[in-house]
Amino acid sequence: MIPAKSITFWALTCLLSLQAFTCLGQTSSVLEVADAVNTFRATRERQIVEDFTAFLALPNVASSLPNMQANARHITALLEPRGFTVRTLRSGGAPYVFAELSSPGASETVLIYAHFDGQPVQSENWTYAPFSPTLLDGLIQEGSKPVDLNSVADQFNPEWRIYARSAGDDKMPVIALIHMLDALRANGLELSVNLKLLLDGEEERGSPTLGQVIDDNPGLFDADLLLFCDGPMHQSRQAQLVFGVRGGRTLDITTYGANRPLHSGHYGNWAPNPIMSMAYLLTSMRDETGRILIEGYYDNVAALTESERAAIEAMPNIEARLKDELAVHTPEGGGTRIEELVTLPAFNARGVEGGGVGDQGRNIILSSSTVSLNLRLVPNQRPERIRQIIENHITGEGYFIVYEDPTDDILRANSKVVKLDWRGGGSPGLRTSMDGPMAQRLIRVMRELTPELILTPTMGGGLPLNAFANRMETPIIVLPLANHDNNQHGENENLRLQNLWDAMMVYGVVLTQLGRN
Ligand SMILES: [Zn+2]
Repeated sequence: MIPAKSITFWALTCLLSLQAFTCLGQTSSVLEVADAVNTFRATRERQIVEDFTAFLALPNVASSLPNMQANARHITALLEPRGFTVRTLRSGGAPYVFAELSSPGASETVLIYAHFDGQPVQSENWTYAPFSPTLLDGLIQEGSKPVDLNSVADQFNPEWRIYARSAGDDKMPVIALIHMLDALRANGLELSVNLKLLLDGEEERGSPTLGQVIDDNPGLFDADLLLFCDGPMHQSRQAQLVFGVRGGRTLDITTYGANRPLHSGHYGNWAPNPIMSMAYLLTSMRDETGRILIEGYYDNVAALTESERAAIEAMPNIEARLKDELAVHTPEGGGTRIEELVTLPAFNARGVEGGGVGDQGRNIILSSSTVSLNLRLVPNQRPERIRQIIENHITGEGYFIVYEDPTDDILRANSKVVKLDWRGGGSPGLRTSMDGPMAQRLIRVMRELTPELILTPTMGGGLPLNAFANRMETPIIVLPLANHDNNQHGENENLRLQNLWDAMMVYGVVLTQLGRN
């Protein structure tokens, strides 16, 4: 994101324009808020960084209840002095922190979701210990060095980065929000909406009890907009709103040969080969460009609307950069842009098991081979129907389907046998309309701050949005704030300071303007 630049650019355009008066009239409040937050922040950078590092120093692997409770207490201690009513909610899993701040005169409510648990860490892979937050003067891959906090005057270089687990995913929103609120108060500015926060303590485990938490607290999460603050921003660093996610299903498929491995010389050309059967089965289901060949697979896929198509066309094209960075000559997709491809279902083989290679190779024909598929689903594709049409397809290829290891009798009685292991029920994809009134208002406010705002119809991955979408009508929009290269889930996770500064400004502008817009 380059909002600071954008703002300067925007203000300049206004001043130079003959309609300077109208222009400033429309944008002054956004610019005033942005300026107030930025000016306040510039005097408090050390305090903000210290608050962030203290939070990051708390280990937060979701499987440790004591750790997550310590995090929840820490968050409560940050929010209560700012006037929030805070509750820790549990429905059999990790704690969730719910906080509420009402604004006099506001008639609408924004619910912000973020999470404070992190992926497990393998400390030996980290350059600096994951729970000893370290400020570096840039990217670690570029040989950056730690900065001694005590040697820094109050202003920090915005390109510096804080390295720690959950720096980018997803502890930053809490810190940005509290310091944004301090900035507003110091300037006598008020929120235009009531604010609710739901901070998830088990997102990295798939938020297993989020649905239950919502069910156990009827009405608590009612809101006019759910802003989902998780995930990295666009690679161009421009501000971004994301309107959807893909869902998914997982399926392991096992094909069979004889009931024990056989010598490939004595039995080659006679014994059915499960690896080859698997290859034929897979290629019957998907072509080389990624197009899924299963009958009916695209029947319910929601077509892109005009606005969604226009938004994709307006996005910075990262194709050439990606191909270069990732050493890819010909992407799948037959020439369609990545931003459009992620609005389509994907059929990914994520692993294959069977036999050995290299020094582990043996001249045998295996008795079974397994592939694990990770299916990405898009809006209107129901996971139950996907199961049905995949099973229809496999039956159509001449297979007898079992759900447990087949007996010899089953193998004797059927020419081709396949075992299907549907792992979990899966989740459908989700997409909020860009044309809805709340979406339009949010887009308007964000565009006043940064005209280059990127609108992404669907991100490729998933987020636990269905727990909300299945239970409420509230429009859900994802507002990603972390740098794209934050290395989330991996070692050396980090957050670029400018992203924290920008997050404060974006929250300030959205929450002071949305209710008035
Ligand atoms: Zn996350």
